[in-house]
Amino acid sequence: LAPARAHQLTDADVAGHLEPPGATDDKYSRGVVGVVAGSAVYPGAAVLCTGAALRTRPGLVRYAGTAADGVRAAWPEAIVTDGRPGDAGRVQAWVVGPGMGTDDAARSLVAEVLATDLPVVLDADALTLAAREPELVRGRAAPTVLTPHDREFERFGVAVGADRIGSARRLAADLGAVVLLKGDATVVAAPDGTAFVNATGTADLATAGSGDVLSGILGSLLAAGTPPAGTAAAAAHLHGRTGQVAAARGPIVAGDLVRRLPEAVARVRGPV
Ligand code: AMP
Ligand code: MG
Repeated sequence: LAPARAHQLTDADVAGHLEPPGATDDKYSRGVVGVVAGSAVYPGAAVLCTGAALRTRPGLVRYAGTAADGVRAAWPEAIVTDGRPGDAGRVQAWVVGPGMGTDDAARSLVAEVLATDLPVVLDADALTLAAREPELVRGRAAPTVLTPHDREFERFGVAVGADRIGSARRLAADLGAVVLLKGDATVVAAPDGTAFVNATGTADLATAGSGDVLSGILGSLLAAGTPPAGTAAAAAHLHGRTGQVAAARGPIVAGDLVRRLPEAVARVRGPV
């Protein structure tokens, strides 16, 4: 690969991913997101991820996981499918992983989502599972975006090291997937070597559930069908802005990010 020249997105670039609905839009045309997250032990991950997806592009979010009661209670707007992801109609992009655990049932949910021909965001426990069976990712024709922090990244057998862009590019090329490597300077790399460095954010984002919000935002943006690397960079940008907006008032928890997403979207869109 040639040396990386990493792109940096601006609010104006990201605003293109956050257009208000057009006059003839309906809930389906605005984007249908599928979320597989959470478990009896970690229902909160499902609630945060689903909420972030809803608050980013509120067309329709379908939930198909094992924390259905928690999601129903927190988000009456979500459509909870008491079945397999494969039964969920009209989904245009999937998010899978936060808080779901790594048992056989979780593994089969991840494999089922990866077997679709839709864009997929792999986060958290789904990354642990995919690192054990990388061929599930390599064999995909549709876009896959991985959102690891450093420890999750290294489960794929690649050290992060000082050259974060180079490391992300290497894993992206190996898997044929977009890699969004999280941290205080989040980077995004595509299999063709295209790279982005995120310009927004705050250390206040280092709080439990913060990554679950990012993956929900990203799934929602991917449901629009835009190219995955630029879309992943846009999601990191919006997540960082949301952290900045929310933390301006004091210490935050991840739920505050979901609550302040509309304000962050307005800020990214700029004056009307
Ligand atoms: P997770 O570890 O999955 O909850 O994800 C944490 C999120 O917070 C990611 O989006 C990180 O990029 C972000 N984050 C964590 N630590 C920092 C930091 N020190 N500065 C800025 N962002 C951070
Ligand atoms: Mg996480």
